[in-house]
Amino acid sequence: MEKPDGEIKEPDKRDIEPGHNFIQNIVNTDLLNDVYGGRIRTRFPPEPNGYLHIGHAKSICLNFGLALHNGGLCNLRFDDTNPSKEDTEFVDSIKEDVEWLGFSWDERLFYASDYFEWLYEYALKLIKAGKAFVCELSAREIRDTRGTLTEPGQESPYRQRGVEENLRLFQEMKEGRYEDGSKVLRAKIDMASPNINLRDPVLYRILHAAHHRTGDGWCIYPMYDYAHPLSDAFEGVTHSICTMEFEDHRPLYDWVLAALPKEEYPCEVTVIPKQIEFARLNLTHTVMSKRKLRALVEEKIVTGWDDPRMPTISGLRRRGYTPEAIRDFCERIGVAKRNSMVDIALLEHCIRETLNKTAPRIMAVLRPLKIVITNYPENSVEWLATENNPENPDMGYRQVPFAREIYIEQEDFMENPPKKFFRLRPDGEVRLKSAYIIKCEQVIKNEKGEVTELRCTYDPDSKSGGPASGRKVKGTSHWVSAAHALDAEVRLYEHLFLAEEPDTELENGGDVKDLINKEALRVIASAKIEPGVAEMKSRRCQFLRQGYFYLEPRGEGTAELVFNRIVSLKDSWSKARKNANQQ
Ligand code: ATP
Ligand code: MG
Repeated sequence: MEKPDGEIKEPDKRDIEPGHNFIQNIVNTDLLNDVYGGRIRTRFPPEPNGYLHIGHAKSICLNFGLALHNGGLCNLRFDDTNPSKEDTEFVDSIKEDVEWLGFSWDERLFYASDYFEWLYEYALKLIKAGKAFVCELSAREIRDTRGTLTEPGQESPYRQRGVEENLRLFQEMKEGRYEDGSKVLRAKIDMASPNINLRDPVLYRILHAAHHRTGDGWCIYPMYDYAHPLSDAFEGVTHSICTMEFEDHRPLYDWVLAALPKEEYPCEVTVIPKQIEFARLNLTHTVMSKRKLRALVEEKIVTGWDDPRMPTISGLRRRGYTPEAIRDFCERIGVAKRNSMVDIALLEHCIRETLNKTAPRIMAVLRPLKIVITNYPENSVEWLATENNPENPDMGYRQVPFAREIYIEQEDFMENPPKKFFRLRPDGEVRLKSAYIIKCEQVIKNEKGEVTELRCTYDPDSKSGGPASGRKVKGTSHWVSAAHALDAEVRLYEHLFLAEEPDTELENGGDVKDLINKEALRVIASAKIEPGVAEMKSRRCQFLRQGYFYLEPRGEGTAELVFNRIVSLKDSWSKARKNANQQ
């Protein structure tokens, strides 16, 4: 809005905090110029035709974040205008996910389907104003007469119908007198517009399908481009934020809102919203569109929408991600207009950063190799202190049991090791974390020649923290006491797609089944975990040297422990940054 003297005020650059995005700048300018009377209202408008993914998280953080930051409010609105693919299962999951991410819509929960009556009324008025007409061309004919980027379209032969006839036909469409696809309501704009979206776009179609909320109440349904701007206006939305593919639809968004004066609206509207586009999130090794995610579920390539390999919010939650880490990720990727590909290593970096300081360390042996310490007294147990988190001394110490029989990782022993192998070898020594130095005296094998057990001796003077603990050996191994260890199933996850940009591969004719990473889930049926894990207050911990893990909540009565690896410890994102900085 212009000030009386015609000058639009720009916010002082010094008022723009670092980390602000271009949309915040637009909001600042609007607040400064009192465009919406100081109001800021945004909305998150998912279509309930699938579960939310990490791309939606970006939109949620942006919309709810802008409202929070500017003293405004954000609505949750289900864009449920296409009954054929929508379902209450999706409505419920979306609500759960938004809440879990830490945002609340309070009483501002809306459905586009609640506006069907108003949208219909508005359409009647458009017809009366000569701005919409009932067209009987088939979908195919409409497409064929739409023209191209270089040629104008052709006007429909039904375009000049009189108002009365249009009103009658539209009412009859609503009454269910016609078959799907036999008629549509179209806006009367301009078949020669350089913007194809303005070439008499379809506003309503006939669809004899039950809707998950309105049942059989309607057999005509509004199109997105028609329902969306009006829903925004009905709710008093000021800034309607969407992704870049809607940029070319903005003139239609504006046309729908300006086609009738405010007084003609079916309800009181105080603001005419504006649409602002930003670039959608794309992640490496991931597909993001709901259509493709749905196919993975339907073809049973994954176990469901919440499979921990999925980039859905429910999948990330089951994997063990925290809402804080996802919000942090959304903050770091920023908001821009240029489409780009974000490295999934950044998302992994964010969860590592969150957990590094908070997750207790636990000793867990994933592929156990038994060791008998022959000079350690039988039936004796020592409880040894070990730090819970070297990055956070406030987390203190816990006691781990040490006894004659222990497990170490199979990979921590090699019979014929290469030069730089610093763990156990025949006649070699290694320090057991927070315990003693042991020496490998004897290797026991089965008839196939596989190593099944080691006989070792320990050095009683080498106790960690003890008076003579100064003796140094190169390697340290984690371990658990065989008698005390808990059995657990451990699930190791990797990227769902091997290719960095699976979308490109799919567009080039690749088959999902070939592109999928068959090693994206490896199950270890019986890992050995130190008993302290049962008393852990948080569900997330770091298994030393193995990564961050999440203890899956199980149903009542199931005793077994199942851990999902959220992420390994190798931070390829930080490493890539360091290399880039050195160059
Ligand atoms: P998809 O293409 O994955 O099916 P969609 O855009 O059809 O997504 P909607 O339910 O319509 O899904 O999306 C709700 C909101 O989330 C919209 O405002 C949309 O722009 C936004 N959104 C969807 N995908 C992304 C993404 N990858 N990055 C950022 N925002 C997204
Ligand atoms: Mg959509």
